[in-house]
Amino acid sequence: MLLMTAAPSTPNTPSNLDVATRIVQLGRDMGFAAVGIADTVLTHEAEGFQAWVAAGHHGDMEYMARHGSKRWQPDELQPGTQSVICVAMNYWPEKALDADEVLAQRDTAYVSRYAIGRDYHKVIRNALQSFAEAISEQIAAHEFRVFTDSAPVMEIPLAVKAGLGWRGKHTLLLNRERGSYFFLGEIYTSLNLAQSAESATDHCGSCSACIEICPTKAITAPHRLDARRCISYLTIEHHGAIPIEFRSAMGNRIYGCDDCQLVCPWNKFAQTASVPDFEVRNGLDAAALTKLFAWTEAEFDQRMRGSPIRRIGHERWLRNIATALGNATPSADTISALQSRADHPSALVREHVAWALAMHEA
Ligand code: SF4
Ligand code: SF4
Repeated sequence: MLLMTAAPSTPNTPSNLDVATRIVQLGRDMGFAAVGIADTVLTHEAEGFQAWVAAGHHGDMEYMARHGSKRWQPDELQPGTQSVICVAMNYWPEKALDADEVLAQRDTAYVSRYAIGRDYHKVIRNALQSFAEAISEQIAAHEFRVFTDSAPVMEIPLAVKAGLGWRGKHTLLLNRERGSYFFLGEIYTSLNLAQSAESATDHCGSCSACIEICPTKAITAPHRLDARRCISYLTIEHHGAIPIEFRSAMGNRIYGCDDCQLVCPWNKFAQTASVPDFEVRNGLDAAALTKLFAWTEAEFDQRMRGSPIRRIGHERWLRNIATALGNATPSADTISALQSRADHPSALVREHVAWALAMHEA
């Protein structure tokens, strides 16, 4: 049986309402696209999360199964937390080549649009730290800790509570004014703040475009993602061989996948990034697969410095590109690029190269 203590709900007094309003305004003034306040009660969300892990849908993201109740009891992760300040920061890179156009070019690498610029962890963490310090200086002194996709934090349920949007059927947060191309971040604060206006209601309606478009059928039901089938998971989080059943469906996607967001009608309201950090670096919006495949490990490390892609390392980078080359045009360039890695020291790379070459012999 799951034992959880829910924090007592906080009555909205004029003072905590006023402080919350000023904090939201300060965050907007500091450049966040949206700011809201959530309380720390995640009882219902914890049950859904535990069922997802129990079903094994997290694949080998073992960190998801760790940390126990720290994930749904913010006060355990950061003692003294009474409220969570949630923020959104838009990331869509204005100058990147059209995503659909790149996906249609078999010999060009597709990199998820959130990852073609600077590592968002650093950008958002720094912005949150400045925001939290400004709250102390300008509004009310507080104890705090900042997070962005880096600790056992239930980011989306907290953002829903904070009124930043609703969880779409693809499981990402959606907002009527900005679609889904934004990062989330949180400040766990000792301040006892009034929760933002009611959580946004679900506006997916009868749409199921994301479920239908998913190349690997990873969205097994509305709001249910089997990460083990998701290209984003397979190309970023997964360490071993990419299961053969998903390799053709990966197409030219070498790092992440945006299909379920690209098709979402709410993304016609998406806004471009307001900071230059998320603009294209290293031509990653439309680079030739063969060119990226030729990078040595030293080149990969050097070029990917400051990029979220560096985390997967050169071996998985080659694994992903070899798979995409197996789906590319069977040209002399493709074959020669693959052959150049046929004797790579990594068995993982060699196996994906062999598979790709076999695809072109078939
Ligand atoms: S990211 Fe791609 S593979 Fe994953 S659920 Fe969305 S469409 Fe499917
Ligand atoms: S594509 Fe349709 S169902 Fe999927 S998240 Fe967007 S609105 Fe919801």
